[in-house]
Amino acid sequence: MRAEHPPAEQAIELAGCRIPYRLRRSPRRRTIALLIDDRGLQVAAPLRAPQDAIDALLREHARWVIRKFGDWQRKRPLPRSWIAGEQVMLRGNALTLELRAGVPRARQDGDRLLVGAAPDAAAIEASVHRWIKDEAIRHFTDRCRDYSTQLGLPEPAVRLSNARTRWGSCHASGRIRMNWRLIQLPEAWIDYVAAHEVAHLRQMNHSPAFWQTVATLVPDHRELRAALRREAHRYLLP
Ligand SMILES: [Zn+2]
Repeated sequence: MRAEHPPAEQAIELAGCRIPYRLRRSPRRRTIALLIDDRGLQVAAPLRAPQDAIDALLREHARWVIRKFGDWQRKRPLPRSWIAGEQVMLRGNALTLELRAGVPRARQDGDRLLVGAAPDAAAIEASVHRWIKDEAIRHFTDRCRDYSTQLGLPEPAVRLSNARTRWGSCHASGRIRMNWRLIQLPEAWIDYVAAHEVAHLRQMNHSPAFWQTVATLVPDHRELRAALRREAHRYLLP
Protein backbone atom coordinates (compact mmCIF):
# COMPACT_ATOMS: atom_id res chain seq x y z
CA MET A 1 0.00 0.00 0.00
CA ARG A 2 1.20 3.48 -0.79
CA ALA A 3 0.36 6.50 1.28
CA GLU A 4 0.17 9.66 -0.77
CA HIS A 5 0.57 12.87 1.14
CA PRO A 6 0.29 15.84 -1.14
CA PRO A 7 2.59 18.61 0.04
CA ALA A 8 0.74 21.25 1.99
CA GLU A 9 1.71 24.90 2.13
CA GLN A 10 2.38 25.88 5.75
CA ALA A 11 4.07 28.83 7.37
CA ILE A 12 5.95 29.66 10.54
CA GLU A 13 6.87 32.99 12.08
CA LEU A 14 10.57 33.21 12.87
CA ALA A 15 12.02 36.42 14.33
CA GLY A 16 9.11 38.37 12.91
CA CYS A 17 9.42 36.90 9.37
CA ARG A 18 6.63 34.79 7.98
CA ILE A 19 8.31 31.87 6.28
CA PRO A 20 6.06 29.70 4.10
CA TYR A 21 7.13 26.11 3.57
CA ARG A 22 5.93 22.88 2.04
CA LEU A 23 5.53 19.95 4.39
CA ARG A 24 5.93 16.50 2.93
CA ARG A 25 5.28 13.55 5.20
CA SER A 26 6.59 10.16 4.27
CA PRO A 27 6.34 6.73 5.91
CA ARG A 28 9.96 6.10 4.92
CA ARG A 29 11.38 9.06 6.83
CA ARG A 30 12.73 8.63 10.36
CA THR A 31 13.87 12.20 11.00
CA ILE A 32 12.73 15.70 10.14
CA ALA A 33 14.82 17.43 7.48
CA LEU A 34 14.90 21.03 6.24
CA LEU A 35 15.84 21.86 2.69
CA ILE A 36 15.79 24.94 0.48
CA ASP A 37 15.43 24.09 -3.18
CA ASP A 38 14.16 26.00 -6.21
CA ARG A 39 10.61 25.89 -4.81
CA GLY A 40 11.60 27.41 -1.48
CA LEU A 41 11.69 25.86 2.00
CA GLN A 42 10.75 22.19 2.14
CA VAL A 43 10.27 20.17 5.31
CA ALA A 44 10.41 16.39 5.03
CA ALA A 45 8.96 14.62 8.06
CA PRO A 46 8.00 11.15 9.23
CA LEU A 47 4.33 10.29 8.85
CA ARG A 48 3.44 10.95 12.48
CA ALA A 49 5.93 13.63 13.46
CA PRO A 50 4.04 16.07 15.69
CA GLN A 51 3.76 19.65 14.47
CA ASP A 52 5.49 20.74 17.73
CA ALA A 53 8.60 18.83 16.73
CA ILE A 54 8.59 20.40 13.26
CA ASP A 55 8.15 23.90 14.75
CA ALA A 56 10.91 23.23 17.27
CA LEU A 57 13.36 22.20 14.54
CA LEU A 58 12.50 25.27 12.45
CA ARG A 59 13.05 27.50 15.53
CA GLU A 60 16.30 25.79 16.39
CA HIS A 61 17.57 26.52 12.86
CA ALA A 62 15.83 29.89 12.56
CA ARG A 63 18.94 31.81 11.54
CA TRP A 64 19.79 29.34 8.80
CA VAL A 65 16.18 29.22 7.59
CA ILE A 66 15.82 33.02 7.45
CA ARG A 67 19.13 33.49 5.66
CA LYS A 68 18.53 30.71 3.13
CA PHE A 69 14.92 31.74 2.54
CA GLY A 70 16.08 35.32 1.89
CA ASP A 71 18.68 34.07 -0.61
CA TRP A 72 16.03 32.01 -2.35
CA GLN A 73 13.65 34.98 -2.59
CA ARG A 74 16.33 37.17 -4.13
CA LYS A 75 17.42 34.52 -6.61
CA ARG A 76 14.10 33.21 -7.71
CA PRO A 77 13.19 34.10 -11.27
CA LEU A 78 10.49 36.68 -11.79
CA PRO A 79 7.12 35.17 -12.50
CA ARG A 80 6.14 35.58 -16.13
CA SER A 81 2.79 36.66 -17.50
CA TRP A 82 3.56 35.82 -21.15
CA ILE A 83 2.43 39.20 -22.42
CA ALA A 84 3.83 41.41 -25.19
CA GLY A 85 6.90 43.37 -24.12
CA GLU A 86 8.29 40.72 -21.78
CA GLN A 87 11.87 39.61 -22.28
CA VAL A 88 12.97 36.15 -23.26
CA MET A 89 16.66 35.29 -23.08
CA LEU A 90 18.48 33.49 -25.89
CA ARG A 91 22.24 32.86 -25.66
CA GLY A 92 22.61 35.77 -23.27
CA ASN A 93 20.63 38.23 -25.39
CA ALA A 94 17.26 39.63 -24.40
CA LEU A 95 14.52 39.30 -27.02
CA THR A 96 11.27 41.20 -26.62
CA LEU A 97 8.15 39.14 -26.89
CA GLU A 98 5.82 40.40 -29.60
CA LEU A 99 2.40 38.88 -30.24
CA ARG A 100 1.34 38.96 -33.83
CA ALA A 101 -1.70 37.41 -35.45
CA GLY A 102 -0.95 34.98 -38.25
CA VAL A 103 2.50 33.87 -37.03
CA PRO A 104 2.23 30.07 -37.18
CA ARG A 105 5.37 29.28 -35.16
CA ALA A 106 7.40 31.40 -32.80
CA ARG A 107 10.47 32.86 -34.55
CA GLN A 108 13.21 35.35 -33.87
CA ASP A 109 13.30 38.59 -35.82
CA GLY A 110 16.34 40.63 -34.78
CA ASP A 111 15.89 41.42 -31.11
CA ARG A 112 12.24 40.43 -31.13
CA LEU A 113 10.59 37.10 -30.61
CA LEU A 114 7.44 36.92 -32.72
CA VAL A 115 4.73 34.65 -31.40
CA GLY A 116 1.27 34.10 -32.81
CA ALA A 117 -1.38 35.91 -30.78
CA ALA A 118 -3.06 33.28 -28.63
CA PRO A 119 -6.17 33.43 -26.48
CA ASP A 120 -4.30 32.55 -23.29
CA ALA A 121 -0.90 32.76 -21.63
CA ALA A 122 -0.51 28.98 -21.54
CA ALA A 123 -0.62 28.76 -25.34
CA ILE A 124 1.98 31.53 -25.67
CA GLU A 125 4.19 29.85 -23.10
CA ALA A 126 3.93 26.52 -24.97
CA SER A 127 4.82 28.22 -28.22
CA VAL A 128 7.88 29.95 -26.69
CA HIS A 129 9.01 26.72 -25.05
CA ARG A 130 8.74 24.82 -28.34
CA TRP A 131 10.83 27.48 -30.04
CA ILE A 132 13.47 27.72 -27.30
CA LYS A 133 13.90 23.93 -27.13
CA ASP A 134 14.42 23.81 -30.92
CA GLU A 135 17.08 26.50 -30.56
CA ALA A 136 18.64 24.61 -27.65
CA ILE A 137 19.00 21.25 -29.36
CA ARG A 138 20.41 22.81 -32.53
CA HIS A 139 22.99 24.90 -30.67
CA PHE A 140 23.99 22.18 -28.18
CA THR A 141 24.40 19.61 -30.96
CA ASP A 142 26.66 22.04 -32.89
CA ARG A 143 28.84 22.78 -29.87
CA CYS A 144 29.20 19.13 -28.85
CA ARG A 145 30.04 18.13 -32.45
CA ASP A 146 32.72 20.81 -32.56
CA TYR A 147 34.31 19.72 -29.27
CA SER A 148 34.16 16.00 -30.03
CA THR A 149 35.85 16.68 -33.39
CA GLN A 150 38.61 18.62 -31.59
CA LEU A 151 39.20 15.59 -29.35
CA GLY A 152 39.04 13.16 -32.27
CA LEU A 153 35.98 11.45 -30.83
CA PRO A 154 32.83 10.31 -32.65
CA GLU A 155 29.96 12.77 -32.54
CA PRO A 156 27.85 12.20 -29.42
CA ALA A 157 24.06 11.91 -29.44
CA VAL A 158 22.76 15.05 -27.71
CA ARG A 159 19.38 15.20 -26.00
CA LEU A 160 17.67 17.84 -23.90
CA SER A 161 17.04 17.43 -20.21
CA ASN A 162 14.60 19.20 -17.96
CA ALA A 163 16.54 18.81 -14.72
CA ARG A 164 16.11 21.42 -12.01
CA THR A 165 19.49 21.04 -10.47
CA ARG A 166 22.01 20.15 -13.17
CA TRP A 167 23.08 21.61 -16.47
CA GLY A 168 24.36 18.52 -18.17
CA SER A 169 25.19 14.85 -17.89
CA CYS A 170 27.09 12.30 -19.90
CA HIS A 171 26.45 8.59 -20.22
CA ALA A 172 29.18 6.03 -20.88
CA SER A 173 27.37 4.98 -24.06
CA GLY A 174 28.22 8.38 -25.55
CA ARG A 175 24.91 10.09 -24.90
CA ILE A 176 24.97 13.67 -23.64
CA ARG A 177 22.04 15.44 -22.05
CA MET A 178 21.97 19.20 -21.68
CA ASN A 179 19.40 21.26 -19.84
CA TRP A 180 17.29 23.23 -22.32
CA ARG A 181 17.26 26.20 -19.91
CA LEU A 182 20.96 26.62 -20.61
CA ILE A 183 20.20 28.10 -24.05
CA GLN A 184 19.20 31.34 -22.27
CA LEU A 185 22.70 31.81 -20.88
CA PRO A 186 25.67 33.54 -22.52
CA GLU A 187 27.35 31.38 -25.18
CA ALA A 188 30.62 31.04 -23.29
CA TRP A 189 28.76 29.43 -20.38
CA ILE A 190 27.01 27.01 -22.72
CA ASP A 191 30.40 26.20 -24.25
CA TYR A 192 31.75 25.32 -20.82
CA VAL A 193 28.92 22.84 -20.15
CA ALA A 194 29.23 21.30 -23.64
CA ALA A 195 33.02 20.98 -23.26
CA HIS A 196 32.61 19.47 -19.79
CA GLU A 197 30.22 16.79 -21.02
CA VAL A 198 32.23 16.02 -24.17
CA ALA A 199 35.40 15.71 -22.05
CA HIS A 200 33.57 13.01 -20.07
CA LEU A 201 33.47 10.92 -23.26
CA ARG A 202 37.20 10.60 -22.75
CA GLN A 203 37.32 10.64 -18.92
CA MET A 204 34.28 9.43 -17.03
CA ASN A 205 35.44 11.14 -13.84
CA HIS A 206 36.60 14.50 -12.52
CA SER A 207 40.30 13.61 -12.33
CA PRO A 208 43.10 16.09 -13.13
CA ALA A 209 43.28 14.47 -16.60
CA PHE A 210 39.61 15.27 -17.11
CA TRP A 211 40.09 18.95 -16.23
CA GLN A 212 43.11 19.08 -18.50
CA THR A 213 40.92 17.87 -21.36
CA VAL A 214 38.29 20.52 -20.51
CA ALA A 215 41.04 23.17 -20.48
CA THR A 216 42.17 22.27 -24.01
CA LEU A 217 38.61 22.98 -25.20
CA VAL A 218 37.76 25.93 -22.93
CA PRO A 219 40.88 27.48 -21.36
CA ASP A 220 38.93 29.76 -18.97
CA HIS A 221 36.69 26.96 -17.72
CA ARG A 222 37.30 27.83 -14.05
CA GLU A 223 35.90 31.34 -14.39
CA LEU A 224 32.98 30.14 -16.49
CA ARG A 225 32.13 27.43 -13.99
CA ALA A 226 32.15 29.96 -11.15
CA ALA A 227 30.01 32.41 -13.14
CA LEU A 228 27.53 29.66 -13.92
CA ARG A 229 27.23 28.78 -10.24
CA ARG A 230 26.85 32.39 -9.19
CA GLU A 231 24.58 33.82 -11.85
CA ALA A 232 22.73 31.11 -13.70
CA HIS A 233 19.59 31.29 -11.56
CA ARG A 234 18.78 34.63 -13.19
CA TYR A 235 18.24 32.84 -16.47
CA LEU A 236 16.00 30.07 -15.29
CA LEU A 237 12.54 30.22 -16.75
CA PRO A 238 10.03 29.35 -14.09
ZN1 LIG B 1 31.22 16.18 -14.83
